[in-house]
Amino acid sequence: MISVVVLSPEIVTILNALAGDGDREAALFAIDAQREAARDWLARWGGYTIDEQEVEQFNDIGLLWGEIEKALASAMVRMQPERMVPALYQVFSLMVLVQEARERPHFSQHVPIDDFLMAGVACGLGRANVDCVAERLSAAVACVDELEARCETAGGLEDAVRADLALGFAALRGALPVVVESARNRDAAALEAALARVKAADEVVARFTTWERNEAWMASRATSLPAVAERVRALIEALRTDSVEVWKPLADEVVSRHLPAMRGECRPKTAGTLMPGRIRATCLPAVDAALEGAETVVVDLVTGAIPPERAAQTLEAELLELSAAMSVVERHAFPSDALFSRRAERYWALLSGLLAGTIPAFVLREALGESTRSEVWAPVVDLMAAYAVQADPELLCEAAERILTLRMSLEEQDEDQWTCRACGFGNDLTDTSCGKCGMESVTPKWGALS
Ligand SMILES: [Zn+2]
Repeated sequence: MISVVVLSPEIVTILNALAGDGDREAALFAIDAQREAARDWLARWGGYTIDEQEVEQFNDIGLLWGEIEKALASAMVRMQPERMVPALYQVFSLMVLVQEARERPHFSQHVPIDDFLMAGVACGLGRANVDCVAERLSAAVACVDELEARCETAGGLEDAVRADLALGFAALRGALPVVVESARNRDAAALEAALARVKAADEVVARFTTWERNEAWMASRATSLPAVAERVRALIEALRTDSVEVWKPLADEVVSRHLPAMRGECRPKTAGTLMPGRIRATCLPAVDAALEGAETVVVDLVTGAIPPERAAQTLEAELLELSAAMSVVERHAFPSDALFSRRAERYWALLSGLLAGTIPAFVLREALGESTRSEVWAPVVDLMAAYAVQADPELLCEAAERILTLRMSLEEQDEDQWTCRACGFGNDLTDTSCGKCGMESVTPKWGALS
């Protein structure tokens, strides 16, 4: 069964073009650039491995890129680039899975520091080259610098907490190079002690990260807007009370960084959320209009086309519009936590990925080709098949709605799954434990017959 892995929209566009939907020449050119990026990626994440599964994954990634390179060199394959799509999907999926596993917190919730610690631990276990720890030092230090800078400008932290954090930052800064030194000297005891020091200091610093995350969560809950909207609000405030020397740099930053970041969060969230089709049809234009409105205002402000007071007023209105549209998205999003079986989860991931442009069309065709005919699932599969032809996003939303209505009737009817006795989740026959609650399957697996 083909796995459904979310890729970046950029890669999906390339794969769809290679498969015939887009500019093939440009896509072939883009693959060459992706090959370069993959080399950097391997340099970034390679150097150590966590376990045997990762050894295999890195190995497969190398082999697949080897095959792809051969294909790229072949005139025949370049004439039929769709033949490369399965291998490309496989290699990009593998890279995503490895990176996701790496970015999950192991010892620290700060990815560069976690990566540094894992490299150090791997070094102690003989699963790494010594250089890979040193190579990660600058990223870990940069992460500490960034956290400390954010901490210094954050309002609302108590003085005592601030003092503790300052000690944590200093301890972390002191401990990081000691790990590199002990790894270089192959001094196992010193390495272990240094890793423990980094971990302890990182836990102190993590109090700030947790605090910051809670603040952002509360702010976004109140307005349905991403945390970065606070920066736009700060600009509105400055426009009303401060001189041009103060608001001008803020406005420049809002144009170059914060508004693009806001678009980068709000647009995919609206376009990629499964919800009733008619709601989607009104939300998406509303979000686009508010984003464009906000961008225009700030550009006009920076170029002097409109005065600060009017800019503040319009910008505030656009933020309100955006917030209203985003809260409609949240209210009407179909509840994905209600999914009741592996098949429902797989189809759901496929539908939302297609909607968001993060799953290539090739995966849909594969999934349709391998789906066994089932009475229960026929309406959902038919809608997906219709989407494969018409590419109308409303069909995806409709299919998702059908999945949710299946919930009640499904448990006894889907034959290629076993139903968990503890929670009722429908698992694949190949699963040995429940995908939802983790309970071991009771043999025979085809529960209904036992
Ligand atoms: Zn279960």
